[in-house]
Amino acid sequence: MNLFDVYPINPINIVKGMGSLVYDDKGTEYLDLYGGHAVISIGHTNPHYVKRLEDQLHKIGFYSNSIEIPLQKQLAEKLGKISGKEDYQLFLCNSGAEANENALKLASFYNGKKKVIAFRKSFHGRTSLAVAVTDNPKIVAPVNETHNVIFLPWADETALEKTFAEHEISSVIIEGIQGVGGIQVAPVSFLQKIRSLCDGHNAVYIADSVQCGYGRTGKFFSHDFAEINADIYSMAKGMGNGFPIGGIIISPKIQATYGMLGTTFGGNHLACAAGLAVLEVMEQDNLIQNAADLGSYLIEELKKFNKITEVRGRGLMIGIELPAELSNVKKDLLFKHQIFTGEAKPNVVRLLPALNLTKTYADRFLEALDKTLASS
Ligand code: PMP
Repeated sequence: MNLFDVYPINPINIVKGMGSLVYDDKGTEYLDLYGGHAVISIGHTNPHYVKRLEDQLHKIGFYSNSIEIPLQKQLAEKLGKISGKEDYQLFLCNSGAEANENALKLASFYNGKKKVIAFRKSFHGRTSLAVAVTDNPKIVAPVNETHNVIFLPWADETALEKTFAEHEISSVIIEGIQGVGGIQVAPVSFLQKIRSLCDGHNAVYIADSVQCGYGRTGKFFSHDFAEINADIYSMAKGMGNGFPIGGIIISPKIQATYGMLGTTFGGNHLACAAGLAVLEVMEQDNLIQNAADLGSYLIEELKKFNKITEVRGRGLMIGIELPAELSNVKKDLLFKHQIFTGEAKPNVVRLLPALNLTKTYADRFLEALDKTLASS
């Protein structure tokens, strides 16, 4: 049987990882500034994480959602404390798409309305509703088409106001910083505008925090920069440091009642152990502060490179936009300097490293980039 081609594949077989470093089957060391697309939040094979998962696996890995699982409560409590959203409810699932799917559905259950506002260049996932609010027609099959989604230009307050005036809006779904869309930071005033329009029209503010959440930006949610509370936050990626876990947290304003949401695997014992281990390490090692500090350092240093068109982002979610003719940079970083980064269109190098990246590794990257740009 052949494998289905999902992504363009680099001919590298990573067999081991430790912190911000990974190793291939030939023993070559790579610096990982991609974290498997913002998934690795506390570093590869973090000892506390490994031990907690191992211990849990020896006890029980999975039973069923029809029993009480105290680990779920512990995860909710810890997440509430660290995120500051203590009065929210947590629903656990398995991925970012599933989290958004449930967020959109719950919003519609709540206010009985159908129309959703999403934004140009957004990415929210590949399941039916999630793909319908994603701005990429190539990944929307005819069966996924919904006429309930209105796409608006990014950060356009006038378009937003007009749409609210003309339609019955159920929810607005927005990434605090667009990830796949090329690291576009939502202006604080725009997020505040969404908040006030949602309040005025009984609409639900859904903060897709799958990529930009979980401490990556130097605050728990990037929407916190706007000092607003979203009605629903969706999360996944960094939540499990590689173990599949996603979730939404739901503000007390929205009554999610029994039976509206559900899943077989969501909130299983192992996933909760992974989720708890991530938050424990994050708290113990002050990783949100580290993301803020190292992110500021990297962004300031990157702004000094004159060949870079623009540096965007917050904390350890950084986009480096380069002129079109420098299309080799990401490949050179990988094959000449052994550094994994991400990419986005048009020519953006994306940095999404583990939140415990150190200055030594940040400097290793800056040096390699300097050499790459000098020879480009
Ligand atoms: N939302 C955002 C902002 C994302 O970046 C992604 C994944 N790239 C998703 C949702 C979907 O997450 P998953 O792949 O876990 O379904």
